[in-house]
Amino acid sequence: MRKFTSLLAILAATSATLVSFTSAAAEVNIYSARKEALIKPVLEKFTQQTGIEVNLLTGNADALLARLNSEGKNTPADLFLTVDAGALHRAVEAGAFQPVTSDIISEAVPSHFRSSDNLWVGLSLRARPIFYSPERVDPEELESYLSLADEKWNDRICIRSSNNLYNQSLVAALIEHHGIEKTEKWAEGFVENFARSPVGGDRDQIKGIAFGICDVAIANTYYFGHMLNSDNADERAAAEKVDIFWPAQDKQGTHVNVSGIGITKHAKNVEEAQKLIQFLVSKEAQEWYAQVNYEYPVREGVEWSNTLQKWGDFKQDDIPMDVLGENNDEAVRLMNRAGWR
Ligand code: FE
Repeated sequence: MRKFTSLLAILAATSATLVSFTSAAAEVNIYSARKEALIKPVLEKFTQQTGIEVNLLTGNADALLARLNSEGKNTPADLFLTVDAGALHRAVEAGAFQPVTSDIISEAVPSHFRSSDNLWVGLSLRARPIFYSPERVDPEELESYLSLADEKWNDRICIRSSNNLYNQSLVAALIEHHGIEKTEKWAEGFVENFARSPVGGDRDQIKGIAFGICDVAIANTYYFGHMLNSDNADERAAAEKVDIFWPAQDKQGTHVNVSGIGITKHAKNVEEAQKLIQFLVSKEAQEWYAQVNYEYPVREGVEWSNTLQKWGDFKQDDIPMDVLGENNDEAVRLMNRAGWR
């Protein structure tokens, strides 16, 4: 944000040349909860094409949102980028966004990957399927998320804790499809089947299968993609002992979630911010943005990476992403009642 202050100093000193200075130094400022490596190269491409400078501040999602709130009208941030519809919903609830009004964007991104009020736009897609050991599990035995509460899975499931947003969003989707009562009954049986008390992140659940701690796990697809393509031979070897199963294919489809972006309520560079979102949903940027993290593009007609192509096509759950945030409180309470730690 150094550039931001220097621009103000220049404007104050030379008001006569204001027009040429502002057009030469058009810029947009992003607060991003995604790591720099997952976004920076595509932002550089945007600057090359448009001449609009992009200033990026990365950090933890909740910390950035708190910063945005405390800065209020004085915030330099024009855009807020984060992962998970649950986190995007928190930003909406905090009043962080203003609507994105662009036909280019709404035509590029299907409506269920955008907030209903267009307060944020999905940029990439991740699935949360079932992973299994092909040595110990016949994929014919697998079916849906709900069937993992069956007795035959007793002591065989690895999954991370209930304070993880990805699991909260999965349960939020199940509540939408099956109702609270049925989902709670499922959660009780599911928790009974855990091979261990929840520990670690998504990669640790996939490794749990490779190490024989459990036979099935639930994790986000990009972690598996990173492991399969890792420079670390142990990570690669672990991933190669595991396969993907796409659950609920004859039902609602496999649970998916997004990374997404919104224009902040007090953005100073609204036009530039909108241009950047338009660029991020363009075919060119979508291919890169999805590939770098082994994610799926949000728009049709964009080529998937080789890794994703190998996993094959699958039916996605197409409930509006908004619902994942709206049902979050209910999901957290339900998981607590079911003893999911
Ligand atoms: Fe993640």
